[in-house]
Amino acid sequence: MGHRVGRHNPVKLKPNTFADKQRRLAAVIALLLAVGCAALVGLSLAGYGVGVPEPYKMTIAMVGNGLIAFLCHRNVHGAAQLLPWWCAIFVPLTIVEPGITHTIDSAFIVVMLIAFGLSGPKTLIVLGFAPLAVLIMRHPHPTKSPYFESSLWLVTAVCISILVALQRTFFAAQRTALLTEQLTAAIAAASDDIVVMREPAAQGDAIVRFVSASAERLLGYPTAKLIDRAVAVAPLLHPDDFSEFVRLEHALINDLEKSARAELRFRHRTGHWRWFEVRSVRHRDAHNTLFLVSALRDINDEREMREQQACEMEYQAQHDALTALPNRWRLTRDLADSGTDSAVLFCDVDSFKHVNDSLGHDVGDELLCAVANRLRPLTTPTCRLYRFGGDEFVFVLRNQQANADTASALAQAILATTRDHLTIGANRVVLTMSVGIAVAEAGENADDLVRNADLAMYAAKTSGKNQFHVFDSEMKQQVQRRHVVEQALRGALAANEMRLVYQPKISITPERCVGFEALLRWQSRDLGEVSPAEFIPIAEETGLIIDLGHFALRTACMEMAQQNVDDAVSVSVNVSIGQLADPARLLSSVYEGLQASGLAPSLVELEITESLFMKRPEAIVATLQSLRKLGVRIAVDDFGTGYSSLAYLSRFPIDGLKIDRTFVKQMNRDHASRAIIAAILALSRELQLRTIAEGVESRQEIDVLASLGCDEAQGFVIARPMPLHDALQFARTYCPVADNADVSSGPTPAVSESFVS
Ligand code: C2E
Ligand code: MG
Ligand code: MG
Repeated sequence: MGHRVGRHNPVKLKPNTFADKQRRLAAVIALLLAVGCAALVGLSLAGYGVGVPEPYKMTIAMVGNGLIAFLCHRNVHGAAQLLPWWCAIFVPLTIVEPGITHTIDSAFIVVMLIAFGLSGPKTLIVLGFAPLAVLIMRHPHPTKSPYFESSLWLVTAVCISILVALQRTFFAAQRTALLTEQLTAAIAAASDDIVVMREPAAQGDAIVRFVSASAERLLGYPTAKLIDRAVAVAPLLHPDDFSEFVRLEHALINDLEKSARAELRFRHRTGHWRWFEVRSVRHRDAHNTLFLVSALRDINDEREMREQQACEMEYQAQHDALTALPNRWRLTRDLADSGTDSAVLFCDVDSFKHVNDSLGHDVGDELLCAVANRLRPLTTPTCRLYRFGGDEFVFVLRNQQANADTASALAQAILATTRDHLTIGANRVVLTMSVGIAVAEAGENADDLVRNADLAMYAAKTSGKNQFHVFDSEMKQQVQRRHVVEQALRGALAANEMRLVYQPKISITPERCVGFEALLRWQSRDLGEVSPAEFIPIAEETGLIIDLGHFALRTACMEMAQQNVDDAVSVSVNVSIGQLADPARLLSSVYEGLQASGLAPSLVELEITESLFMKRPEAIVATLQSLRKLGVRIAVDDFGTGYSSLAYLSRFPIDGLKIDRTFVKQMNRDHASRAIIAAILALSRELQLRTIAEGVESRQEIDVLASLGCDEAQGFVIARPMPLHDALQFARTYCPVADNADVSSGPTPAVSESFVS
């Protein structure tokens, strides 16, 4: 896995190393000098004068020694290390040669002490003072010794102090460095991580200078075979990770990053890959050589667990927890992949809500699982089944199978599977399905396809359930019309195509005009007059209702503020679900409308359709309370159609109820409708809610409502929606509806009313 390189010397984890050619040369010169000095001393000891005068012997030796020290180490530490050896040789010489002069003697002792001091306190005592004592004792009269006469002791004391301080500084630092290195090496050896110190070479290769023993344990490579070798990294790294590795190394080497982290796969000696988290830093030694130091943490198990979790999460994200079928998200993705080569069968369990409500949600869940189990055998490699949500399942046919005939055959099979009853616990349930089929056409996306199939399923439901319908040209026209209306609606406000009309509301006793309901009208430049029944649902689906609602609120407030304050009537504005979903915007719309117009808040009523109250009751209560704080009134629109009870409604901060026109219409023909209206009115009185009946179409209906105690009425027999000017005129000049009047004899609409609901 590597090859030896001669040009590099091993990096020992110790300071003061011979690192290069210069140093080796210095070592050779130092050795020669040392040998020369030793020879000189040896010859002197043996009594052979070599022609060097006595005082210079010592000087030569000292200079030689200094040179050795400097050349070998080129720093004070190194010099100091060699000086004790030098002294060890020359002290005995001094003792055996008492004839040396006083000056040289003194100078020698000072130098000797410096040397001892630098090498440590113990050496100082043993090698410094011991020879000094010997020298003194050897003198015939120690007290008359020249050493006592000179200021030598003072000099010596000062030197010792300086030397000890120097020793502390230099050697303490050296020892700390050594300790740190030893400790680092120990930590690296004990660590579970692989620690590698390497000199970078070209293309991510490196000469390994140190590698911890864990490399053998984790990757199987004997560390001894790695050290001081140029290791080619590419064969060790997973091919997919190599470029990342080179990028990080490059960033470190070129000082672009201080440290680098990556998760990389390394090849184990046996051939398999293991994941490691690699953290690398750059390091330069005293000789400015660049090293990269990396710690490799084995994260193989961690990665495997993470990958497993990611797989599980991906599975959960794409599958339905109840039936384990692929879910709606997966359907959208698969359809986007398969493009126009698909047919979709949208299946909805008939009356499932009823089953769920009567048998409970647990049984409902079991039934859905049972349905999924019945449908599953119908799948093939080109026919997949998805749970779309709730009681809706979707089959997707692909490739050659994606045509109306195959889809119809599958739909028949689907209807057949559900014919037999299902047994859940003690319950025997027969569940039928309605199926809608749509085959993809050019230009349609996944959403179009599913929506078309959904529309076809809806057609199957409305034609009596337990059957299938294929999305046809009529449905297609509806979809296209919807698309055109949606596009036009997006620009309607900006094009100033929207306006409000006002439908008067009267109090029944006494009969007089008390307010108007503001209703949106859209005169499209391209489509002509478009009915609210057509554009309001589209506006709600697309979110455009937020801007339309804001327009209606503001316009109603501004226009109504023009009326005569003395006989002012109220205005009701419809608020839809989209607006309630954004309470902050709704509140600011109302506040802004009131502020801008100066209209009294008590003259503004917001109509909120009953079905909305059941959707998110808690959130709605809070919004309604905030709206009421602004001083406006709240009425429940279309009451009686949303399955809410009056008792339930008592929890909401509301002021009035608007009885849906379906009851009013049936009132005179159907005893039950009349009884319902009577009950609503009785309970409203208890709850002190004001009541209004909408869709009143005859004088007779007004009279019946009066006898039942209804407060107000609104309907075509009283007045159709009209422009503000006409509505204000109507309010001022209102005369009660004539006897026997009905909708056909009611006031002619002042504006075109293309929609009669
Ligand atoms: P709605 O709030 O129930 O409004 C009353 C609808 O009943 C109006 O239809 C009105 O013209 C119609 N109507 C009134 N009297 C009679 C009658 O005697 N017989 C019959 N058959 N119908 C009558 P319009 O104006 O077509 O509005 C339909 C729906 O559109 C409204 O129902 C309301 O839900 C929605 N809408 C209209 N304008 C707005 C608006 O500004 N904002 C919101 N969010 N929805 C609006
Ligand atoms: Mg209304
Ligand atoms: Mg209504």
